Amino acid sequence: METGQQVAAREAVAMASDLIAFDTSNHGDPHAPGTERPAAEYVAGRLADVGYDVTYLESGAPGRGNVVARLAGADPSRGALLLHGHLDVVPAQAADWTVHPFSGEVRDGYVWGRGAVDMKGAVAITLAVARRLRREGVVPPRDLIFAYVADEEAGGWYGARWLVDNRPDLFEGATEAIGEVGGFSVTLGSTATGEDVRAYLVQTAEKGSLWLRLTARGRGGHGSMLHDDNPIATLAAAVARLDAHRFPLVLTDPVRALLTGIADLTGVPFDEADPQAAVDRLGPLARLVGAVLRDTANVTLFDAGYRSNVVPATARATVDGRFLPGREEAFGRELVEVLGRRVRAEWDTLPPVRTSFDGALVAAIRAAVEAEDPGARVLPYLLAAGTDAKSFQRLGIRHFGFTPLRLPPELDFSALFHGVDERVPVAALEFGTRVLDRLLRTC
Ligand SMILES: [Zn+2]
Repeated sequence: METGQQVAAREAVAMASDLIAFDTSNHGDPHAPGTERPAAEYVAGRLADVGYDVTYLESGAPGRGNVVARLAGADPSRGALLLHGHLDVVPAQAADWTVHPFSGEVRDGYVWGRGAVDMKGAVAITLAVARRLRREGVVPPRDLIFAYVADEEAGGWYGARWLVDNRPDLFEGATEAIGEVGGFSVTLGSTATGEDVRAYLVQTAEKGSLWLRLTARGRGGHGSMLHDDNPIATLAAAVARLDAHRFPLVLTDPVRALLTGIADLTGVPFDEADPQAAVDRLGPLARLVGAVLRDTANVTLFDAGYRSNVVPATARATVDGRFLPGREEAFGRELVEVLGRRVRAEWDTLPPVRTSFDGALVAAIRAAVEAEDPGARVLPYLLAAGTDAKSFQRLGIRHFGFTPLRLPPELDFSALFHGVDERVPVAALEFGTRVLDRLLRTC
């Protein structure tokens, strides 16, 4: 007969596969019908099956399904722990893939498909553990709230953000949350006896986002004449200056803690005066960590002109800016300075997220990882992108990105997010259910 753990591991793999097969692509068009409903109904069904009282609701638009359920804990005076995951995914072009991106196929020890790592695999792990806890009648130390939400990939306006604005009662009492992006292992080398040295990265902070709309105006006219005030040229020069600009290097607490921890594990000292050198040594991980040493601003859209023989009167561009915690004002000032007076800039921002890497929950995370992977270290890190943590932090909830996955050293994990041939090892999903089950019994 299967043990409770064996059932949870088997279910996590099967449910990851089932969830991937629902095409919940989020194209970012707020007027398009939602795609999350079938996946949300599936999740609601799996929770109701084992006796959860499930809330299913659509957030502001048809089809944008969300599911919330609560498991009462032993000590109601302690704040609840929220476990949240999103059900939408970014689109995928099937022609580029080895397997169909919405097949959920299990092949060569991996579950393949869009969402395998971002983040239906994680949803399947929490769902499998939620089912096991309920089946076994476990009373966790504190209330657990499981939330599966829509629209994360387009900012959560029809998901987490809407729920926080319209149904904060669902998250009543929550003080801490576990969501994306973290918990995966990175292999930093090997010991003298040939064993891999592994660290698990827990997200404790994320950059803020700033979307900048730029407009340059000039004198339009016939393309055959002399023009000294062409808005396309003005705007192109401004975005080229921005592209060449390097924002100042800022060593934030989570990045310092990460680089110090890696230095301890590898024995290669970390020079605070030159964190870039420490990041350059990280191999594929450098892509993840390199973007958090400074603010960034990348031009992503450029729109101008309507005919080959007409100089237009306006040109527009959009810039995707990301800034470190504490840098919002300085970043805005610096952007305006680099772009110059001839370009008008307007922007929207979403705040950074940060919490400290301490307290009882962090201790429980460490203990759960070390129990399943003795000798591994747990380190904090700062994410360059944004997640639903931006919405949930408005309720005063501390955020940790933690989906425990023990990964093979050769897997370039960060490249799989929104990537072609996104896939997650079956063994990593099974490992995740073991670690999360321990954590939720001791949190
Ligand atoms: Zn995600």
